[in-house]
Amino acid sequence: MSLVVGVTGGIGSGKSALTDYLEQQGITVVDADKVARLVVEPGTPALRAISERHGSGILLANGSLDRAALRRIVFSDPQERLWLEQLTHPLIGEEIKRQLTASKSPYTVLSSPLLLEGEQVAMTDQVVVVDVPVEVQVARTMQRDNNDEDQVRRIIAAQMPREERLARADFVVDNSGTLEQLQEHAAALHRRLLALA
Ligand code: ADP
Repeated sequence: MSLVVGVTGGIGSGKSALTDYLEQQGITVVDADKVARLVVEPGTPALRAISERHGSGILLANGSLDRAALRRIVFSDPQERLWLEQLTHPLIGEEIKRQLTASKSPYTVLSSPLLLEGEQVAMTDQVVVVDVPVEVQVARTMQRDNNDEDQVRRIIAAQMPREERLARADFVVDNSGTLEQLQEHAAALHRRLLALA
C-alpha cells in the first residue's frame, strides 16, 4: 500500500477543490463521504437495519435513504446518532481500507471531513488540513448548498474547532485566496508528497 495522505477541513473549506486537483494529477482519492453513502445503498444490510429502526418513512420513494430525514433525527437525538455510528462506522472503515489497499498511485488520498474526530486518522501517514477563516467557510458553504446561515453555523459548531484541527496538521493548505492560488498551493503540496512517497 502506498503512502496514505489524509485530507481534512471543515465543511466548505475546499477539500473537494484540493482533491479534484490531486485526482487530475493521477492520485487515487478515497472519499469518506462517498463511502458513507455506499454502505447504506439500497440492498445493504445497514439500510435494512436503519429502516427497521426508523420505519419505512426513512426511505425515499425509490427505496434509497432519505439522508435529510436521518440527519434531522441524529442531530436532535445523541442516542440515535450513537446507534447510527455504531452501525455504519465499522462498515465505512472496512470499505475505506479496501479502497486504499487497491490504490496503485504513488500516494493515496483519504479525504474525510471527520478524519481527526474518529479512527480514520489511524489509517493515514500524513495529515493535510485545508484551512479558511470561519466567515469564508460560512459564505462558501451557503453559496454551494443553498443553506441558511444558522444551519451552516450549527454544522460548523458540531465539527472540530479550527485551531484544534490546525494543531494536528502535517501540512496546511491555505484556501482563503482565489481558486488559482489554491491550485498553486496544491501543486506545491503534490510535489512534496511525491518526494515523501
Ligand atoms: P469541502 O469539500 O471542504 O466541503 P468544497 O471544495 O466543496 O469544500 O468548497 C466549498 C465551495 O467553495 C465550493 O462551491 C467550491 O467551488 C468553492 N471554493 C472552494 N475554494 C474556493 C476558492 N479558493 N475561491 C472561491 N470559491 C472556492
